[in-house]
Amino acid sequence: MSKKDKAHLNLVVIGHVDHGKSTMTGRLLYETGAVDERTYQANKAEAERLGRPSWAWAFALDRLKEERERGLTIDIAFFKFLTDKYYYTIIDAPGHKDFIKNMITGASQADVGMLVVSAKKGEFEAGVGPGGQTKEHAYLAMTLGVPSLIVCVNKMDDVKYSEERYKEVKDEVGGFLKSIGYKIDQIPFIPTSALDAANLKVLTPKLTPWYKGPCLLEALDQVVLPPKPTEKPLRVPINDVYSIKGVGTVPVGRVETGIMKPGMKITFMPADKTGEVKTIEMHHEELSQAVPGDNIGFNVRGVERKDLGRGDVAGPADKPPTVAIDFTGQVMVIQHPTAITVGYTPVVHAHTAQVACRFDEILQKIDQRSGQVIQEKPDFVKKGESMVAKLVPLKPMVIESYKEFPQLGRFAVRDMGLTVAVGIVTKVTPR
Ligand code: GDP
Repeated sequence: MSKKDKAHLNLVVIGHVDHGKSTMTGRLLYETGAVDERTYQANKAEAERLGRPSWAWAFALDRLKEERERGLTIDIAFFKFLTDKYYYTIIDAPGHKDFIKNMITGASQADVGMLVVSAKKGEFEAGVGPGGQTKEHAYLAMTLGVPSLIVCVNKMDDVKYSEERYKEVKDEVGGFLKSIGYKIDQIPFIPTSALDAANLKVLTPKLTPWYKGPCLLEALDQVVLPPKPTEKPLRVPINDVYSIKGVGTVPVGRVETGIMKPGMKITFMPADKTGEVKTIEMHHEELSQAVPGDNIGFNVRGVERKDLGRGDVAGPADKPPTVAIDFTGQVMVIQHPTAITVGYTPVVHAHTAQVACRFDEILQKIDQRSGQVIQEKPDFVKKGESMVAKLVPLKPMVIESYKEFPQLGRFAVRDMGLTVAVGIVTKVTPR
């Protein structure tokens, strides 16, 4: 099967610093043939010259990261690998500055998260302890809506492939994933060693005779895609609107839920304009219907270009998108020089909309690592903390509950050029 016939998935690699993300990813790219032997040999020679032979694998990734940070064009084939069924792209890691923004806006939504957890004594404990990123990244993946997770219990060579240690790591991480809402019976926990290539491309029963699950490549191949939400009401956040001679008004956007067909009556919110879909196009081809995931341009009669703009959302005339008077959400503060208090008014980015919103009430402070309520009605919430808050848009804005419309129910809070917080919407008060 060629690349073209395979479904495409975005993979994000997460986990605590030094737990082996780069090494594992480099090795995976090599094992699947995405990094050629010559490049690997060059990296190996360089690593040996530095007296750190194990770094050879990570070098592939380091070069990539560095070039990406510097904004250089890089060989895109480098981040891609194939399994039997899928064609994977490795996307930004959480440390990358645009990661959260890209995830929120759907520019690079991850379908699968690979959580790398070191089993090494002390390292595992640091990753799940205070300030550890193992739980924080897992929670972020949940909040940002990464549907599938694979856990690599890594550096098993360092603990002599001990089943007992594996179980300890699995129980703790699994318990946490369950507490934040992941279905852990669907998550593979693979004992790996990026250095020994244990259970990566093939199972290595000599090292882990006690392990009966899939190897990493199999697990990546066995990912089950969530069904396309075609049953839900149509939602198409608008990216751009054109007026084309001889055609008319053509909004462009991505179908998030539902189905669009010619002849349908649709309403744009908050513009509150209704028209009829005449034709739908994707990649210059006319479609008889558009489904979730399709990036379309559609000709709509009865609505003028000047009435619409980026941030509007199209939906069925009888089930139009929700315009919020206010909305309540779970918000995690990623970076803020001081703290968030009631009255704070940053810009909220949700789907294609950007609207100033005021923090109207801070209802609860939540422990970011466990999801437990730690304080009712706190005065402020700092970096690294989470809250339940009510926000009021200062201009009409479409926002939906995360549960019903995941892509329209999560948001980034931006201020001073930074993403200061991210959130998911739990409740909307409609206009
Ligand atoms: P990252 O920060 O998560 O990307 O971690 P790196 O991939 O840079 O790895 C951090 C250190 O752990 C490096 O010195 C690696 O050589 C080492 N390392 C990575 N994977 C393994 C493994 O499976 N076993 C052992 N023993 N060391 C590993």
